[in-house]
Amino acid sequence: MSFDTLGLSPALLRAIADQQYTEPTPVQAAAVPVVLAGRDVMAGAQTGTGKTAAFTLPLLEQLYVRNPRAAAATRKPRALILTPTRELAAQVQESVRTYGKHVGAKSVTIFGGVGMNPQIDALRRGVDIVVATPGRLIDHMQQRTVDLSAIEVLVLDEADRMLDMGFLPSMKRVLSALPTRRQTLLFSATFSAEIKALAAQFMREPEEIQVAKPNSVATTVTHRVHPVDAEAKRDLLLHLLGADARQTLVFCRTKHGSDKLAKQLDKAGLRAAAIHGNKSQNQRTRALAEFKNGKVGILVATDIAARGLDIDQLPRVINFDLPMVAEDYVHRIGRTGRAGAEGLAVSLVSHAEEGLLRDIRKLLKQDIAIEAVSGFEPARALRLDGPGGGGPRPPARNAAQARRPHAQQPRGNGGEHAAGNQKRRRRRGGRPATART
Ligand code: AMP
Repeated sequence: MSFDTLGLSPALLRAIADQQYTEPTPVQAAAVPVVLAGRDVMAGAQTGTGKTAAFTLPLLEQLYVRNPRAAAATRKPRALILTPTRELAAQVQESVRTYGKHVGAKSVTIFGGVGMNPQIDALRRGVDIVVATPGRLIDHMQQRTVDLSAIEVLVLDEADRMLDMGFLPSMKRVLSALPTRRQTLLFSATFSAEIKALAAQFMREPEEIQVAKPNSVATTVTHRVHPVDAEAKRDLLLHLLGADARQTLVFCRTKHGSDKLAKQLDKAGLRAAAIHGNKSQNQRTRALAEFKNGKVGILVATDIAARGLDIDQLPRVINFDLPMVAEDYVHRIGRTGRAGAEGLAVSLVSHAEEGLLRDIRKLLKQDIAIEAVSGFEPARALRLDGPGGGGPRPPARNAAQARRPHAQQPRGNGGEHAAGNQKRRRRRGGRPATART
């Protein structure tokens, strides 16, 4: 199938050709015509499927080609894209710029961790598309520095993650402030009962599109587990990185752990940077930019910081720690094997993580090759024949902490704490505070 058949105008087709995309991905082929027909869409698509272009292309077509605003009209924003994290917001705006370069798209990102004034200035000058995280957008709504009364299209990107991060009250607040006559597009890797309830309340007969089974990973990814004693993990990681200098994203469970590991890698002469919620927005942006342009070869990240990172053709992901929640494995691995490229997902698994590995295998419904690395064989072999889940877990004070280990870290200024705390509050039945981004 070719992009020419989707109903997009030459200016957008030119931007697609500039990217050297030869054909639409399944979610693009399914969603673009439906969005162009003006329907609400609820799409099940995870990161790496090309979902950003699936909503950005028809959105640009609608705003700039089919229904351009009159030159004299006020420049109130016409489209709002809500994302769970700052990084994802920045990347979505990058896509808006990339695909919208021949139609003169005007957009702004609105997220916390950076000053409000440049955002206010941009809104005052006039933009068509606002890409925002919920917390900071609400700040602007309260200060009346953003006017959402002319929004025609709303996109909820990675809606499941926004709910996971405790943004439901904020999302409802934003949704209630928008015109009811609008088009709503919801993208989510999974569809929980909460997401369906949100769609029933705020969408009009959405067309449902499902392109990949939930909880599946790209077939182009090779998974490999290296069993290893916990105390030998760092040396094994150095060994693997030393043997193969490919660009690598390394996942760590905690912010402290990722900082420590990045420092140790740096000390060993490997160019590494860490990205997590305790870093300032500038540090996060710089680390990501340096990783993307190859200045830094290894990026060490926590789950929430890495959510939605769009790094073209990332060849390898290494799980230094397995995630505490099996679904996060799918999200982590979503960063490699994108758009048909080959990817490698390596996990360093200690005896204490057997239960987590069982959970992951159960979720993926597939075996993962287990290969000990010579010189790093663990004292005890991994046992995976027990029941899925419920295996030995690292010590944690209670079940909620076991699921969200970053909650055990010292208090910092990152959105990760806000999200983790909020989630625990919800579990205890308490009233959630407004989450900040
Ligand atoms: P996303 O799922 O939106 O994060 O996109 C994943 C990656 O796929 C991004 O790096 C895009 O640049 C790339 N991509 C999007 N659409 C296509 C396409 N039709 N052909 C090839 N690559 C694409």
